[in-house]
Amino acid sequence: MNPDDVSLYRQIFEGRSVSQLLVDGQSGDILRANEAAVEFFGRTGGRLVDTQLSELITDLSERGRTAIQHRLAATPLPLNISQHIAGKGWCHIEVEGTRVYDHDARPLLHVTVHDVTEQLRTERALRDFEEIYEGVPVPFYRATPGANGRFLRVNPAFVRLLEADSPEQLLGYEIARLYVDPSERAHFSNTLMQEGEVFRYELHMRTIKGREIRTADTAFRHFDGSANPVFDGVLEDITQRRELEVELSYQARHDKLTDLANRRHCESALQTETERSDRYGQPLSALMIDIDHFKRINDERGHAEGDRVLEWIADVLRNRVRETDLAGRWGGEEFVVLLPSTPATKAHRLAEELRRSVAEQRDAAVTPVTISIGYAGYRHGEGSARFMQRLDRALYAAKGKGRNRVIAAEAPHEMQAGFDQRGQPQK
Ligand code: GH3
Ligand code: MG
Ligand code: MG
Repeated sequence: MNPDDVSLYRQIFEGRSVSQLLVDGQSGDILRANEAAVEFFGRTGGRLVDTQLSELITDLSERGRTAIQHRLAATPLPLNISQHIAGKGWCHIEVEGTRVYDHDARPLLHVTVHDVTEQLRTERALRDFEEIYEGVPVPFYRATPGANGRFLRVNPAFVRLLEADSPEQLLGYEIARLYVDPSERAHFSNTLMQEGEVFRYELHMRTIKGREIRTADTAFRHFDGSANPVFDGVLEDITQRRELEVELSYQARHDKLTDLANRRHCESALQTETERSDRYGQPLSALMIDIDHFKRINDERGHAEGDRVLEWIADVLRNRVRETDLAGRWGGEEFVVLLPSTPATKAHRLAEELRRSVAEQRDAAVTPVTISIGYAGYRHGEGSARFMQRLDRALYAAKGKGRNRVIAAEAPHEMQAGFDQRGQPQK
């Protein structure tokens, strides 16, 4: 061998940071070990030499030892071994052998030992992450930002949520097309770019198949290896929850029997409308309606018939009021109709129409009834309580005058004798 080659070989053997051993092909004795090997196996200077390879790699089963010996004879495939290394604990090493010959044609084995512990740990962590990402029934996505953002990666749960056939159908898909209002995408993207993260950002979306869904997006913005911003997020399907909320909110504001606004809703609308009228000076009127001798119906025809009459009256009111008006069940067999932007004269006309149409209920499939109505125009600054008192009194007066009639409320100043300064009736 050329002396230059020997020197080169030595430099390569000693200089490389990978552990290298030269082993006797017959005996398995280690003939030479480089610095990296000495350091890796934790043996002090030169003490690797003259030990056996199989002593070094103690964790080998019988099969493993034979495999190493085979390495002497044949295949150059690397061998993966779990090995306990002094001072390091369990390591995963990759042992690779190449058969070489010395100048006496004696077979030698050139062994390299790679510590792949860290690499395996990383691979396992990646595999774990993949399993979670692919298996967890929570829709994950990765996407590019912007109004024209596109999906970079989605998991199977995400594919199911958006009713796509495969991840490929969504990859590269223009996300804005999944929004019912595509301009919402730009807004979402801007918010996430600026804030860095969003929690349960509610979106109105459409699946690939066109079905509308309500979603909540929890995402964060970060930067990929090339410093480009990317969004990673979880999309929650909140369609059912939203529907339930809408339903519950409706139920909280409506009467179960008649489906009209309930007392609470009427009171809050009354408060809003009287305040609005005080502020902007718009007219506001209201009717208070009570069924005449309703108790008799219950007594003579039964409670169920009483309920049917209530439902029928509710229908009459519903059919007569405008979109901006509010018909509600004030309680029992009493109803109110709130008429924003309406002067008292119009309220009177409507009251009279309602009274007449109930009294002339020709083809109604319920027991004939009549109603009494008090009506009033809101007086600037009087407040909702005083307004309701005047309506109540007018209704009472209609009852007193023989029922089946409409009576206008007295003006507030005409009532003062009967009320204290706070508008409460004097006892
Ligand atoms: P008036 O002409 O003076 O108004 O007489 P009235 O019988 O209508 O008045 P009263 O207030 O004495 O009776 C109201 C009745 O309404 C008493 C109550 O049992 C009945 N009622 C209240 N709520 C309901 C309901 O939801 N269903 C039925 N069927 N009856 C109800
Ligand atoms: Mg009554
Ligand atoms: Mg009553």
